[in-house]
Amino acid sequence: MEEAHTMAPHRVVVIGSGFGGLFGTQALRRRDDVEVTLVAKTTHHLFQPLLYQVATGILSEGEIAPSTREILARQKNARVILGTVTELDLDARTVTSEVLGRRTVSTYDTLLVAAGAGQSYFGNDHFAEYAPGMKSIDDALELRGRIFGAFEWAELTTAPAERDRYLTFVVVGAGPTGVEMAGQIAELAHRTLRRDFRAIDTRTARVILLDAAPQVLPSFGDRLGDAARSRLEKMGVEVELGAKVVGVDSTGLEIEKGDGTHQRIESATKVWAAGVQASELATLLAAQSEAELDRAGRVKVLPDLTLPGRPEVYVVGDMMALDNLPGVAQVAIQGSRYAAKHLKARLDGKQAPEPFRYFDKGSMATISRFSAVASIGKARFSGFAAWVLWLAIHLVYIIGFKHRVTTLLHWAVSFIGRGRSERTVTAQQIIARNIIRKMPPEDLPTLPVVASDHVPAADGPSAERTG
Ligand SMILES: Cc1cc2nc3c(=O)[nH]c(=O)nc-3n(C[C@H](O)[C@H](O)[C@H](O)COP(=O)(O)OP(=O)(O)OC[C@H]3O[C@@H](n4cnc5c(N)ncnc54)[C@H](O)[C@@H]3O)c2cc1C
Repeated sequence: MEEAHTMAPHRVVVIGSGFGGLFGTQALRRRDDVEVTLVAKTTHHLFQPLLYQVATGILSEGEIAPSTREILARQKNARVILGTVTELDLDARTVTSEVLGRRTVSTYDTLLVAAGAGQSYFGNDHFAEYAPGMKSIDDALELRGRIFGAFEWAELTTAPAERDRYLTFVVVGAGPTGVEMAGQIAELAHRTLRRDFRAIDTRTARVILLDAAPQVLPSFGDRLGDAARSRLEKMGVEVELGAKVVGVDSTGLEIEKGDGTHQRIESATKVWAAGVQASELATLLAAQSEAELDRAGRVKVLPDLTLPGRPEVYVVGDMMALDNLPGVAQVAIQGSRYAAKHLKARLDGKQAPEPFRYFDKGSMATISRFSAVASIGKARFSGFAAWVLWLAIHLVYIIGFKHRVTTLLHWAVSFIGRGRSERTVTAQQIIARNIIRKMPPEDLPTLPVVASDHVPAADGPSAERTG
């Protein structure tokens, strides 16, 4: 008779359900000897590269943010837990997460941290209230509310200065996100909305793209940067380079130009697409290991993506610093797959794989419908061909058949037609969010915890305590 398998499974805790966390978890499927607990602060996996399309009414939030639980439903060795990780104890090997006041402690044998990065305001966090970034579904919906709302306010006002302020949109940061946002706002104003209003001509709206750097899309090189700039300008976007934002308030922003002069731009709607800062969990990891942080707060990992002095902790994606790799989806995907492969070799008693090597598949950014720039290997191209490639690649990476179908439909509505399928905005998106942001922590709602909810400290494979 075969002997029953009695070894306790190897407990892997994964933090984050973004590209790193999800692909890392999936890479551990079909391992009966491994039990994965994925902890994330949202219930969805977010496809960040298409957030700008949610913000500008092309796609719904569901299309780019499928449920993590649903994606992993068939992966029997994986469990999903909702919660924001607030504490890490690398000696005790525990991860503490919280949601609405409820704390959960998960114990691991191996930890994979893929908590990504947030927006950086370069020390001016107060700008966030008037210039939201674009990192989450909440951000995209708030921006959708602000952008479509600005046209509504412009329609209502009779004061020309106020109308101009509502019809001036400023995007800060001329990287891919800023370029895509500026292009889409310009298309909204010049194409989608042009017949919808009576008191205003939406085509008079100004869209300004600002950056302190001297070039649009610096990571794509001069040629593609210039192509993107000239395409944006043809669409009516005003591109202002060498302009550093030094102040943001509810009615506008102040910029400092290269020659040191200051200028104020009256604008009700500002979008922040400049600068990233690694998750605050990076600081916790560095404090408990020999790892250092780089200037963007990312953790400097060893070539096998583990923390110096903590071989059981992998850090991948946007919060990892290694060989100056960029914060892009493929770095997170390939890094987490490598970490899973490295772990599997360890569990099987095999030799560790060669150090992590990133394979650059190229990068691309859309500017408008039918126009994009792409850089693949040594090839650089722009225009329609790049846009078709962009379309195909993004469809491949959208998770789930139903999301691919609805996304294609919504793209047809927006790119072949003139419409936008997702123009719904609610007061909750802006007003309630700002109220919640300003609430003192003690006033925030918590889950009622009844005595029977308390689970005593558990031992064994899925050691987890809540309360
Ligand atoms: C607007 C935008 C456009 C982009 N466009 C492109 C593009 O076109 N091409 C490209 O390659 N890349 C693009 N990127 C970058 C790409 O999305 C990231 O490089 C990638 O998402 C990084 O993956 P990650 O797993 O490291 O982090 P993320 O995907 O950000 O995932 C982080 C996860 O951690 C969770 N989390 C964070 N903190 C905690 C915590 N304390 N507790 C629990 N969970 C936590 C988050 O909820 C999330 O699930 C874009 C990014 C943005 C914001």
